[in-house]
Amino acid sequence: MLYIGNHTTSSKGYEKMARQMIANGGNTFAFFTRNPRGGKAKEIDEADVQKYRALAEEYGFGKIVAHAPYTLNACAAKENLRDFARETMADDLKRMEYTPGNYYNFHPGSHVGQGAEEGIRKISEILNQVLTAEQTTTVLLETMSGKGSEVGRSFQEIREILELVEKKEKMGVCLDTCHVWDGGYDIVNDLDGVLKEFDEIIGLERLKAIHLNDSLNGLGSHKDRHAKIGEGQIGMEALVRVVRHPALQGLPFILETPNDDEGWTREISLLRESAADLVL
Ligand code: FE
Ligand code: FE
Ligand code: ZN
Repeated sequence: MLYIGNHTTSSKGYEKMARQMIANGGNTFAFFTRNPRGGKAKEIDEADVQKYRALAEEYGFGKIVAHAPYTLNACAAKENLRDFARETMADDLKRMEYTPGNYYNFHPGSHVGQGAEEGIRKISEILNQVLTAEQTTTVLLETMSGKGSEVGRSFQEIREILELVEKKEKMGVCLDTCHVWDGGYDIVNDLDGVLKEFDEIIGLERLKAIHLNDSLNGLGSHKDRHAKIGEGQIGMEALVRVVRHPALQGLPFILETPNDDEGWTREISLLRESAADLVL
């Protein structure tokens, strides 16, 4: 089954997000758990969740991929910023249990001059404080482009974070095609090689979701500027190979392309067509 959808911009509740995704031709989606710049989350409405669950079942949705606010920095130098990261993640994970068994993706963080090693230590420390044995959510570390002092710029750094986490069974990885390309992984000319490297360093069984984006910039540019599918330097053919790759079948593919619903509808249908012969 091809699970594909987009990062929805409407935050009017689960039912609305699911209905928009159905209209777009999707069967998974991503969303911010709260204002992307942080702040207090809206109360979860159980009736809304029930309506979402019924829709998800009716339309055969795959797992959904919540996204933590991108201001959250688990390896900030200032302790008050780490308190915010810790409290936000713990609260989000509690709220995620209203929709059990899904994914919660976050940017590992920026070490802001403390060095990657210290960043990795601080990120894993917060994960060890917020992960619980009871949670059904898998927390995903997103692969980053290496812009500024971002941690998670290489498969090796992601592995080092995972190695320090105690509840490893609660952890996974989300691979962002724009970010890894910008990070220097040549998914255009050697997708097999990149996935082999991922497997050797992290393990493909940890790969739980794909952010499917084109990139405005070149290989190794460390910029993180997303482009529409086929309008960037990765290109349509290479992104189709990602969607069709045997090692990635069944994962949720999330578009984070600069679009509106009309544009996402077009991209979803294009990608569905390109993989139509694979669908079981
Ligand atoms: Fe992200
Ligand atoms: Fe992403
Ligand atoms: Zn990005």
